[in-house]
Amino acid sequence: MNDKVQIVEVGPRDGLQNEAARVPVADKIAFVNRLAAAGHTRIEVTAFVSPRWVPQMADAAEVCAGIERRPGVRYSALVPNLTGLTRARDAAIDEIAVFPSASETFSQRNLNQSVDEAMAAAEEVCTESLSLGIPVRAYLSTSFGCPFEGDVSPARVIELTTKLLDFGAYEISISDTIGIAHPRQVTELLHELGARVPLENIALHFHDTRGTALVNVYAALEAGVATFDASAGGLGGCPYAPGATGNLATEDLVYMLDGLGVATGIRLDGIIEASRAIEPLVGHPLPSRMYRASA
Ligand code: MG
Repeated sequence: MNDKVQIVEVGPRDGLQNEAARVPVADKIAFVNRLAAAGHTRIEVTAFVSPRWVPQMADAAEVCAGIERRPGVRYSALVPNLTGLTRARDAAIDEIAVFPSASETFSQRNLNQSVDEAMAAAEEVCTESLSLGIPVRAYLSTSFGCPFEGDVSPARVIELTTKLLDFGAYEISISDTIGIAHPRQVTELLHELGARVPLENIALHFHDTRGTALVNVYAALEAGVATFDASAGGLGGCPYAPGATGNLATEDLVYMLDGLGVATGIRLDGIIEASRAIEPLVGHPLPSRMYRASA
């Protein structure tokens, strides 16, 4: 097991994008600043997607303009195409993320593109972004199962991961979009994946829909992965994935890693403070167990 883990905070983007409530720009900015103050070094702040499809992210440029830029913190954003990339560059974002998926039906519903079309778009964005000097991360959605098709084959996940690395993405976040993964599946996939690509280029993105997110992290830690996505308070879900609840909560992850003696650089009380400020704005209690226990 690595003695140090990097957490990518996705609450301001993956979290708030998938909440029904609209959070005012000033509160989003304060949220990002609190997360950075808590010790996060990687924060996904927004998405440069069409405001017609994702009204929650219509304020992307304003959020980027308003946040404090702490030295040592990388502020990233989702980018689906070249239009989004131009907007992200104009907003002086440090890093972008593309987000194809591993299953055909989910790709159609989420992106209105086939997997091949989404991969072609990802390649185009990667090439252009790297020529601008902006590093690229890639999510691979529905890597552990699709809400419409069921099983997704590890061979497909490995094939697409390899391609995304070839496009120039430096890290692939293997995403359990619907929270269906279990530890045996994680161990098996990482065993196969680790034989093909360096695991330092792999991150994992779990949802806690079935209560398996933390035990999946544990399995991935044992397999040698050292980067995990999490969302303060467990904010989020996925509007295109019926029944998907929030992301793995940052508080729950940090609590477990602290106990294991795995360093994250993140202060648990700082995250709880950020969650406490955002909770009244999303209109429901935040699901993080650690957060609730701290109340
Ligand atoms: Mg998510």
